[in-house]
Amino acid sequence: MKLHEYQTKQIFRDYELNVPNGILITDASQIKDAIQTIGENCVLKCQVHAGGRGKAGGVKLVSSLKEAQSYVNDMLMTNLVTHQTDEIGVPVTSILVEELTNIKTELYIAMTLDRNNQCPTILASKAGGMEIEEVAESNPDDIIYENINPSVGLQAFQIRNLITKLDIPREATSEFTELVQSLVKIFYDIDASLLEINPLVITSDQKIVALDGKLNIEDDALFRHSDLIQLRDRGQEDQLEAEATDLGIAYVNLTGNVGCLVNGAGLAMATLDVTNQAGSSPANFLDVGGGADVEKVAKAVSIILSDPKVTKVLVNIFGGILRCDIAADGIVSAYAQTGSRLPLVVRMLGTNVDEGQQILRNSDLNVTFAETLSEAAKAISNLPG
Ligand code: GDP
Ligand code: MN
Repeated sequence: MKLHEYQTKQIFRDYELNVPNGILITDASQIKDAIQTIGENCVLKCQVHAGGRGKAGGVKLVSSLKEAQSYVNDMLMTNLVTHQTDEIGVPVTSILVEELTNIKTELYIAMTLDRNNQCPTILASKAGGMEIEEVAESNPDDIIYENINPSVGLQAFQIRNLITKLDIPREATSEFTELVQSLVKIFYDIDASLLEINPLVITSDQKIVALDGKLNIEDDALFRHSDLIQLRDRGQEDQLEAEATDLGIAYVNLTGNVGCLVNGAGLAMATLDVTNQAGSSPANFLDVGGGADVEKVAKAVSIILSDPKVTKVLVNIFGGILRCDIAADGIVSAYAQTGSRLPLVVRMLGTNVDEGQQILRNSDLNVTFAETLSEAAKAISNLPG
């Protein structure tokens, strides 16, 4: 789950990090009061779950109420398209009005999981304000990594290392040290999968300020954070993905046209690979899970069918706990509910496979059966569309 910048900054405040004073507005009528408190020289920041706002016009420095009003009128209730969104963009339903910060230096600092080394890691760079992906591409040596050994935690020498490599001025070292310690604490406390401050600013009076903030929380740990769940902004999420999440279905929207219904995450990954190899392009990753009943399968198929990109459907079910007849009933039910006529290629194996195939044969669905996964992938590629 992603948090907005203003929500992230509130968490930063709770951990005594310096963040600029700000007021969140959700309606154009609120800008006047906000400016009265913050001052006419301020920065307006569209709150969306996407980076790259600065370059896309989602961050604006203004110096008068009039300028602020015109920006808010232009941006609120529109969609912001950045290089991290699709061409439709994400809705701007709130804008953060912040006091200006006197920037001397912009740094980058983040924390995430290093899956190769199986530990949390701190990434930092002197190239703050830039996209870290660009730095990684053009100047990979400019990124500093400090892996945190899970059994001993962050060590003092690692902070000293960061201070040296980032050229943190002497006057700011103790504040920087506290910041790094707090980042690690936040990361663990809220089960973050990503925590990023870009830019982390050193001001002209040598203060360390988090000018931006990004926090992603690991979905599988959300049950431990009932207070954080309320911060979810569904309007920012892919609507089909949000619907699937509510149903407990693992679903990721992709760019192709083959809707995929699979049980088991590994089988789903293999299905995507083999489908791609056969020359087709999957529209989604979908793992309906082992314990699915007819209703859940039907909902999963409905999600696939409601995706306008999908022109044909590939079913790859290995009947174990999820029996093939249950899967077939769910498929038939979803097609009946949606009235869809999209053709299917079905590969089913395992428990009650004969019953499952019979249910599909008895239906009026346009089904092609396949024995193996590679046959299924070929068959789906041979279907028109
Ligand atoms: P992002 O593009 O979505 O990552 O948005 P950021 O919050 O990082 O803002 C983009 C850029 O706007 C920053 O890198 C800064 O250069 C600039 N910016 C944001 N707030 C201020 C501010 O208070 N003062 C000044 N001078 N620049 C700011
Ligand atoms: Mn940023």
